[in-house]
Amino acid sequence: MKDKYDVVIVGSGVSGLYAALQFDEEISVLVISKRELSLSNSSLAQGGVAAVLDKDNDNYKLHIADTLIAGGYKNDLSALEVLVTEGPTDVLNLRELGVKFDSDSQGNLSMTLEGGHSRHRIAHHKDSTGREIVRRLLEVVAEKPNVELLENTLLCSLQKDSGGGFWLSVMSEGGEIRPVFAPYVILGTGGIGRVFKYTTNSAIATGDGITMAYHLGAKIKNLSYIQFHPTGFAPKDATRERFLISEAVRGEGAVLRNADGERFVGNYDERGELAPRDVVSRIIMQEERRIGKGDFYLDITHKDADFIRNRFPMIYEKCLEEGIDMTKDWIPIYPTQHYLMGGINVDTKARTSVSGLYAVGECSHTGIHGRNRLASNSLLEALVFSRRAATDIIVNIRVNGSPVPKDEPAVPSAAGKPLRSGIRTAIRDILQEAHFVTLDIQKAKENLPRIEEMMRELSDEGLAMSKDLIEARSAVTVAYIVLSEDIANS
Ligand SMILES: Cc1cc2nc3c(=O)[nH]c(=O)nc-3n(C[C@H](O)[C@H](O)[C@H](O)COP(=O)(O)OP(=O)(O)OC[C@H]3O[C@@H](n4cnc5c(N)ncnc54)[C@H](O)[C@@H]3O)c2cc1C
Repeated sequence: MKDKYDVVIVGSGVSGLYAALQFDEEISVLVISKRELSLSNSSLAQGGVAAVLDKDNDNYKLHIADTLIAGGYKNDLSALEVLVTEGPTDVLNLRELGVKFDSDSQGNLSMTLEGGHSRHRIAHHKDSTGREIVRRLLEVVAEKPNVELLENTLLCSLQKDSGGGFWLSVMSEGGEIRPVFAPYVILGTGGIGRVFKYTTNSAIATGDGITMAYHLGAKIKNLSYIQFHPTGFAPKDATRERFLISEAVRGEGAVLRNADGERFVGNYDERGELAPRDVVSRIIMQEERRIGKGDFYLDITHKDADFIRNRFPMIYEKCLEEGIDMTKDWIPIYPTQHYLMGGINVDTKARTSVSGLYAVGECSHTGIHGRNRLASNSLLEALVFSRRAATDIIVNIRVNGSPVPKDEPAVPSAAGKPLRSGIRTAIRDILQEAHFVTLDIQKAKENLPRIEEMMRELSDEGLAMSKDLIEARSAVTVAYIVLSEDIANS
C-alpha cells in the first residue's frame, strides 16, 4: 500500500468494483475491503439485475412506473430516469466483460419476471447472479495495473484535509494502522443489516461508510426506509446464519403456512403469497399475534423435485446444509431485515454533500427506490451510479489536478481500553423491539436515550481501535439516526 492515491474506493462489492473498472492507467486507485474481497451483499444477490433490454415488449416508461408503484411515489424521478435509461448499457457491458447471464440457445438473454415488474426484465445467472457478477468483476479489476485491491483491510477513520481531499486511517490484516491520502474517496460500503437481529445481509453490512460520512457532516437521508423480507430462513439453532429464500420460490407456487399448517396470507390480502414483500412481512407478524405462535413455513413440496433442484440450486443446497430438503420438507421462515433504501444522500453524479466524497450502491441514497425497493433495481443502481461517480472524478482530476495534503493525519491507536462486551447485542435488541417490520414508536422514544448513552460510551478516544469497535460505533450511530428519524416522522 502506498501513502497516496488519486482515488480510494472503500468496498469491493458491485458498486466499488464497477467504479474501479472505469479509471484509466493514469489514475491510481486503491480498493479496500474489510474482509475477503468476495464477501459482500453483492455476492449474495440471487434474483438478478432489472433492465429494459427487450424493446419489443418493454419500455423505460413501464420500468419507471413499476419502480414508482413499489416506492410509493416517494422516488426521485430525475435519478430514476437516469437509472432506467442508462442501466441497460451497463448490463450489456457486464455481458461484454464476460459475466455469464442465462441465455437461450440463440444466445439471447433469458429475462425473467419478479414481483412488482410488469414485464420480463431481469437478467440473471441461475439463482446466484451477484456471485457471478462479483467473480468476473474481480478478475477484470485485478488485471488493471493502476488498481490495487486489498482485502482484510479496514477503514478506521476518515478526515478532511484543509487543503482538500481526505486522510483515511486503514488497518491492515496484521493490525497495523496507517494513514493514506486521497483527493477523492468513493464509499461503496453496503447496507446496515447486521445492526438488526435478523437479517439476510452479509457479515460486512454494518453501516461503517454511512457512519463515517455522517460524522464528517455529510447529509444522510431516509435511513429509516428499511426493507424487510418475509422469507428469511429461520434456523432452529439461533446462532446459525439466516439467509434469503428468494421471492422467486413463491413466484413458482410455494405457499406460506402457519404453525398449525394452515395457509393464511389470503385471509389478509387477496393477492395472497405474491403480495409485495413489506405487505407479506406485516401479515406474518399479524398472524403471529393472532395465533400466538411464531413458527412459519414455506411449502413448495407439491412441485416436481427435479424442477426445484434445477431452478433453485443454491437455495436447495443451503437448506440441505440446515437439514431441510425443500423438495419434501416445509422450509422454516421468518421476516428479516433485507435492504436499506436510504443512506448517504447523493446527486445523480453520486456526489455527497462533502466535496470530493462520493457514495455508491446500498450505502447511498440516490432516491431511486422511494419508500420501498423494487426487486433487482439495486444492482442496477450500484452499476449506473458508480460509473457516474468515476466519470465525475475523472473530469475533476483532468480539470483541477490532485491537491496535496496540508495537515498531519490523526491516526487511531490499536492500544487502549477494550470494548465492553454485549454492546452490539444490546443495540440489535433495541432495534428489534422498536423498528422490526413495523415501527413501535413508544419503544423508539423509550430507547433513544439508551442509544445516546451508548454513543457517548463508544466515542471515548481511549478505546483500542479494532474492527469490533468500528462496527459497534457504526451500529450505535445507525440506530441513533433510524430512531431519531422515526420519532421526527411520527
Ligand atoms: C440475500 C440478498 C439477495 C439480494 N438479491 C438481489 C437481487 O437479486 N438483485 C438486486 O438488484 N439486489 C439484490 N440484493 C441487494 C444487493 O445485493 C445489494 O444492494 C448490492 O449488491 C450492494 O452492493 P454494494 O457494492 O453497495 O455493497 P456490498 O456488496 O455489500 O459491498 C460492501 C463492501 O464494503 C466493504 N466495507 C464495508 N465497511 C468497510 C470498512 N469499514 N472498511 C473496508 N471495507 C468495508 C465490504 O467489505 C464490502 O467489500 C440482495 C441482497 C441480499 C442481502
